Amino acid sequence: MRKHPLGLAIRNVSKRYANGVQALDNVSLDIPPGMYGLLGPNGAGKSTLMRTLATLQEPDEGALFLGDIDVVNQKEAVRQTLGYLPQEFGVYPQARAEELLDYFAVLKGITNRAERRATTEALLRQTNLWDKRKQKLGGYSGGMRQRFGVAVALLGNPRLLIVDEPTAGLDPAERVRFLNLLSELGENSVVILSTHIVEDVSELCTKMAIINQGQILLEAEPLEAVASLKGRMWRKLTDKTALPALKREHQVILAKLLSGRTLVHVHSPDRPGHGFEAVEPDLEDVYFGAMAGCFGTASRQPQVEGIAR
Ligand code: ADP
Repeated sequence: MRKHPLGLAIRNVSKRYANGVQALDNVSLDIPPGMYGLLGPNGAGKSTLMRTLATLQEPDEGALFLGDIDVVNQKEAVRQTLGYLPQEFGVYPQARAEELLDYFAVLKGITNRAERRATTEALLRQTNLWDKRKQKLGGYSGGMRQRFGVAVALLGNPRLLIVDEPTAGLDPAERVRFLNLLSELGENSVVILSTHIVEDVSELCTKMAIINQGQILLEAEPLEAVASLKGRMWRKLTDKTALPALKREHQVILAKLLSGRTLVHVHSPDRPGHGFEAVEPDLEDVYFGAMAGCFGTASRQPQVEGIAR
């Protein structure tokens, strides 16, 4: 993929923590403007990469460029154009939404009062919190807090917006509302959605990468990746006891409970045998397929017993 002048280029980034964990292992990605999904299980290295992009920590090796800006060496320039919604977004429970957003706007450098009022009103309306603007944040639901976090992150029209695991604690209705909000964000900025939830990516992102154990397993357009598995995914409903034998004989990419039985997805160019039926692949097959090495790059320890959501 060609480097985009307004996009993000990540080159050979590695990070090992003091405890010896290799959180990022030679990661390279090209992220164009628009909504980009970074998908991987807990512990994959997503937050480490997001914190590095947000200039909160430095890599041991490698470089990151936002357009022309060298992220590691021009931190101030990145911070001026960055919106970051971290995994744990702490709020002051006694503060009212309107007041706190106004305060953050001052910190962001919007010193003109009229401009600040117009900006905060637009953001509170965009995040659907205008009617709740006088409410204390301590009384906000998880979804409202996340949407408030987006309002804060969008102050100053960032070119790079990072949203780290935003839907993890949300109920289904809040999740839909939150994803709708993200989908409306501009196409001129880079929006990175880091998540372990496959549906977040399939519903929103035109491009994505799958990461596990600090390594990029697949960089793709979700629809293309799904299409590439067409005719190669097979399913069988079986008993848990039959699983070890199936794993020995076939490339089992996913085994999940279904009404007390075990549903197995197998990757194979031909029908794997008796009792298997063809299944229309989806992004979950891509995700677990990437973990199992169906795209040529297996993680160090394939995970097959994913809890599919
Ligand atoms: P993810 O966001 O995908 O869950 P993280 O980037 O948080 O992954 O973590 C990647 C790996 O690095 C994990 O094994 C995690 O335990 C480890 N890790 C994360 N932060 C630290 C830290 N500050 N010190 C030591 N190990 C860490």
